[in-house]
Amino acid sequence: MALNILMLGAPGAGKGTQAERFAKARRIPKISTGDILREAVHAGTELGKRAKAVMDRGELVSDDIMIGIVKERLDQADAADGFVLDGFPRTVAQAQALDGIMLGRSPLVIVDIDVPEAELIRRLGSRMVCEDCGSNAAAPGEAASLVCPKCGGRLVQRSDDNDATVRDRLAVYRAKTMPLLDFYKMRPTFRSINGAATPDAVAEDLARTVDSVLGAGAGR
Ligand code: AMP
Repeated sequence: MALNILMLGAPGAGKGTQAERFAKARRIPKISTGDILREAVHAGTELGKRAKAVMDRGELVSDDIMIGIVKERLDQADAADGFVLDGFPRTVAQAQALDGIMLGRSPLVIVDIDVPEAELIRRLGSRMVCEDCGSNAAAPGEAASLVCPKCGGRLVQRSDDNDATVRDRLAVYRAKTMPLLDFYKMRPTFRSINGAATPDAVAEDLARTVDSVLGAGAGR
């Protein structure tokens, strides 16, 4: 059975960090729609040009574009044994489309990482990312050095992590993405975990939670 994981949570909840750790540990790809869009912006493609303005305003790229990107990505061979999806779906329409894409595949294990809003604002305000490879600087010490621990690139604030855009992104999350909790919460493979703990504690909780869902045989 493939390990198909979907990470839900507000901006700053730690989805990206946890998705990356989990994917590495289980040797499955992490598929982040935010990363795919930032790579397109970096590469200056047509998609990147269109997406940049939307992302800088903290709004969502259109459902049609995002669904197309994810469908194509999930059809690639490396996703056949499982994947961790981070940043998608962000709207009910995307979630409905994902159910269609998942037909005939192993069921999704859906994990919501829950973090209080004041903590999200604090985290997003101090987050540093590499301008070359896009990875987050995890530890405060790494951020202070302004050098990416993975590739040596320069650490900068993400262009959509400024105060005004953070407020807009959280408002968009509440209006468009939070309804996904209602969409998914009745499923036997849905779980919510506390994301306000340390990254190590959240990673342990996530691993235990996913294993308990699979151990329970839900959806098999
Ligand atoms: P993230 O890195 O997940 O915070 O995504 C950064 C930005 O990319 C978001 O604020 C959106 O503008 C855009 N984005 C990423 N994923 C999606 C998605 N599934 N639907 C629409 N827009 C997205």
